[in-house]
Amino acid sequence: MKLVRYKCDNEVSYGILIEDDVVCLPELAKNLRKRFPSTIEGFIARGVEFASRVEKIIETIPRNVLKACMRPLSAVTILAPITRPPKIICLGLNYLDHIEESITEHGAKIPDEPIIFLKPATTIIGPGESIIKPSFVKNLDYEAELAIVMGRKAKNVSISEAENYIFGYTILNDVSARDIQFKDIQWTRGKSFDTFAPIGPYIVTRNQLRDVSNLHIRTWVNGELRQNSTTAKMVFNVREIVHHLSRVMTLEPCDIIATGTPAGVGCALKPAPKYLKDGDIVRIEIENIGVLENRVVEVDFR
Ligand code: MG
Repeated sequence: MKLVRYKCDNEVSYGILIEDDVVCLPELAKNLRKRFPSTIEGFIARGVEFASRVEKIIETIPRNVLKACMRPLSAVTILAPITRPPKIICLGLNYLDHIEESITEHGAKIPDEPIIFLKPATTIIGPGESIIKPSFVKNLDYEAELAIVMGRKAKNVSISEAENYIFGYTILNDVSARDIQFKDIQWTRGKSFDTFAPIGPYIVTRNQLRDVSNLHIRTWVNGELRQNSTTAKMVFNVREIVHHLSRVMTLEPCDIIATGTPAGVGCALKPAPKYLKDGDIVRIEIENIGVLENRVVEVDFR
């Protein structure tokens, strides 16, 4: 199932993608006299098993009945799938090829445990929304990341059980102000500006995307390919990540976990870094999930 939050005729709703149409789930529930959660967050909190059951129900509904609850994708604005997750947890240095490009620059080495930091929920924007670059940020950069969306509360879960707590996956761009990140040593300020976490376009449920161990992950800036790697280069896989994090903090439904970025970030490019500037279009694609595209807009804050 591909789950999507959208706006249509000034109304925000959520649904599932069937080819080029969105089936509005709250409306379908009303028509079927069934009770589905009224928000996407509520739907995710019911877990992936509930999503599977809904999917099975939909398969049995005749197309003409379904049609009444459908909107063409071209008629809706796709929004960030989740806007207020309990937490956004990010991993640093989780791809071998990114560690390699960072070794010469910043002395990075392969971590023996995940390196984590948090981004506030106010960083979230959806597909097509603008990444705001304050003019005092000089070195703005992108980071394509596979993001885990949690579906169940998880505390101290083993590696073998960890996958059961995952609802699905989406894309997150861990936008970073490198000048501030490297000046501060720790990463909070440089990665926490409003709009520094574009996410979307869909959440693909774990039952549809069963294997995320070798997904193609790519970034283009204004059509120029910058990142071109695979999730096979992750140091810690999604199961290990959920296991490690759940030993630190309780993971909750709708928590987003960004799993790190591969090689090709702007600050590591040779012969010279290439940073984002006003008007740049950042396009991230992860195989079997979709495309997340955002424009950079520079704003002069005084
Ligand atoms: Mg990152």
